[in-house]
Amino acid sequence: MFDDLRDLYQEVILDHGRNPRNFGRPDSFNRTAKGDNPMCGDKIAVYLTLAPDGSIQDAHFDGRGCAISQASASLMTEILKGKSQAEAEALFGHFHDMCTKDDHEHTDHGPVDEEAFEKLQVLSGVREFPMRVKCATLAWHAMNAALHGEEKTSTE
Ligand code: ZN
Repeated sequence: MFDDLRDLYQEVILDHGRNPRNFGRPDSFNRTAKGDNPMCGDKIAVYLTLAPDGSIQDAHFDGRGCAISQASASLMTEILKGKSQAEAEALFGHFHDMCTKDDHEHTDHGPVDEEAFEKLQVLSGVREFPMRVKCATLAWHAMNAALHGEEKTSTE
């Protein structure tokens, strides 16, 4: 990766880590799940508001953890707004592959919102650090659990 691109990615992660978007438990929501990453000590709760048609109207999170877990959750809540559940799950699948697999090994998770996926590229560096993959994907696991009506998820 080019150094200046790496620096840009670093900057975006630091910015989201320091000033997380959509942080805090909202007054109203209709789905929630907690995510726990004991390896690093990250704990996150995701709060979703689903519209009557099932699409994600609003997304928030709170919790504590390392900069990667916080930045990933922050980015995720920004990206999810207005997405259908199928789109959210496709993004999760593509994101998980990006964090864990080489490009040619990616599986088909269905059509993905390219613009949204592009924003997640800032976290692609975690692929070189297997320990951090769980930090980066924690919020997504929690979001997925919330969509499926589960209250908790753990990376263990
Ligand atoms: Zn972490």
